[in-house]
Amino acid sequence: MDRKFIFVVGGVSSSLGKGTFAASLGTVLKSRGFKVSLQKLDPYLNVDPGTMNPYQHGEVFVTDDGAETDLDLGQYERFIDENLGKVNNLTTGQLYQGIIAKERTGDFLGSTIQIVPHITDAIKASIKGAAETQNAEILIVEVGGTIGDIEGMPFLEAVRQLRRELGHQNTYVSMLTLLPHLAATGELKTKPTQHAVKELRSYGVQPDMIGCRADFPIASELFKKIALFCDVAEDHVIDLPTVQSIYDIPVNLKRARVDDIVLSNLGLTPRKSDLAEWTAMVAKIHAKKEKLPIALVGKYVQLHDAYISVTEALKSAGIHHEVDIEVHWINSEDLEKGIVPLDALGEVSGIVVPIGFGARGTEGKIMAARFAREHKVPYLGLCFGLQLATIEFARNVVGLKGANSTEIDPNTPHPVVDIMEEQKKIATKGATMRLGAYAAVIRKGTKTYAAYQTERVYERHRHRYEVNNAYRDQFERAGLIASGVNPDLDLVEIIELRDHPWFIATQFHPEYRSRPNRPHPLFRDFVGAAIHYQKGAAMKEKTAAQQRIL
Ligand code: GLN
Repeated sequence: MDRKFIFVVGGVSSSLGKGTFAASLGTVLKSRGFKVSLQKLDPYLNVDPGTMNPYQHGEVFVTDDGAETDLDLGQYERFIDENLGKVNNLTTGQLYQGIIAKERTGDFLGSTIQIVPHITDAIKASIKGAAETQNAEILIVEVGGTIGDIEGMPFLEAVRQLRRELGHQNTYVSMLTLLPHLAATGELKTKPTQHAVKELRSYGVQPDMIGCRADFPIASELFKKIALFCDVAEDHVIDLPTVQSIYDIPVNLKRARVDDIVLSNLGLTPRKSDLAEWTAMVAKIHAKKEKLPIALVGKYVQLHDAYISVTEALKSAGIHHEVDIEVHWINSEDLEKGIVPLDALGEVSGIVVPIGFGARGTEGKIMAARFAREHKVPYLGLCFGLQLATIEFARNVVGLKGANSTEIDPNTPHPVVDIMEEQKKIATKGATMRLGAYAAVIRKGTKTYAAYQTERVYERHRHRYEVNNAYRDQFERAGLIASGVNPDLDLVEIIELRDHPWFIATQFHPEYRSRPNRPHPLFRDFVGAAIHYQKGAAMKEKTAAQQRIL
């Protein structure tokens, strides 16, 4: 079988939505009956984004096989509904690390190591390897950065070489571009696109398709102009308007017949055409729904991308229950300092405490967990959200004064959350956490079991600390139950409160496995509980109002 490769590059500006376009292309091509996978090429020198500040990079996405990757991989998984892995994300850092390690062991037999051919060969090997590992008939490869970036050059050179090797019938290049708007004349301009294409051609790569992004509707003459100047067929210049929901994009691509265009260029005959389930989901997204306010209490709330899998998982649960999730972003430090009053949590129907590292802002998150427990507000804790809820319970229910995690207070008298045994000897930071999918056995009769309906689950982890088993019995007697336990390592993976309508927290990240049309069971039931809570709160208010009248 000849595998097919589609490259997605970006010109003129960053942040045009290349990742979403690539993922959406994946959705429509999969809907035509092909096995599709996606790969992201990141030109930065970090080996992976695992050590980057969320404000620099947004969320770190984690795959089943434990890779810490760009958040685009989460987008890909959500759009094509396939599990990806290490092979699906390549960085310049990884390339250099691999090649320099080989050089040190003498593998190059004295030759000079150069960007061409050594780095470009490694890029090509990674692209082909990703397609083979994922057994993809079509691999969509997103080249990060913008055409013209110095660090992106080796990737574009590898694209050129691959086209030469595999032929145009097996490769396809889509370029996204921006048409800027000049307010003075009220026009959209194509010149930057022409220049970006010229720049791409200077690497020996001619785009087959140009996807146009603009803040205003694009007149049809402009598509013709771009086609003429950039040497692309007229029907291969595509309008990519800004949409209300990113999940609209596959539907729009289908409407523009992008799937037909790409497939016929690659010499592929579609096997079916079925986007019905996706289209039905999009219709549900746009249907008018009741609002459901959910608080997300974190440290990086100014950058919503830092929690993108969490909000997408919440939204998908909202689609399932036909409610509109309205995220209330609460900065945990503001809560801690009283800048945001605790009462803000009284306005929401559910509280999420997500991923986090380090001491700053933790007391605010602990206050949120306490509020949820005491006011019976549904609570979903995700990793740090489990650890902090445990600390809160230890302090305020069990009565262990000063209980903490050794990550936050190394001298705590009650280290109820402590570093994992195998983590103690690790001194380096990159890719050294407990990462990737591990099993958890779910205790029957719990709300956790009611959600999963199965005894064994696999979920993705990214942490160094765990609940200290020395306190487990004490917690259990006081009503904090280990509803999911790792069968091999005997670690607490899920907790829930016995005397609470819905208070569940996980040591792993269920958000990474949630899909837009298949919400993760814990997110689904959390939102279900929040709806129930909202109804109860409305009823209470009504009764109180009636009593006031009487
Ligand atoms: N900082 C905590 C740990 O390393 C929690 C990490 C997380 O939220 N993923 O264990």
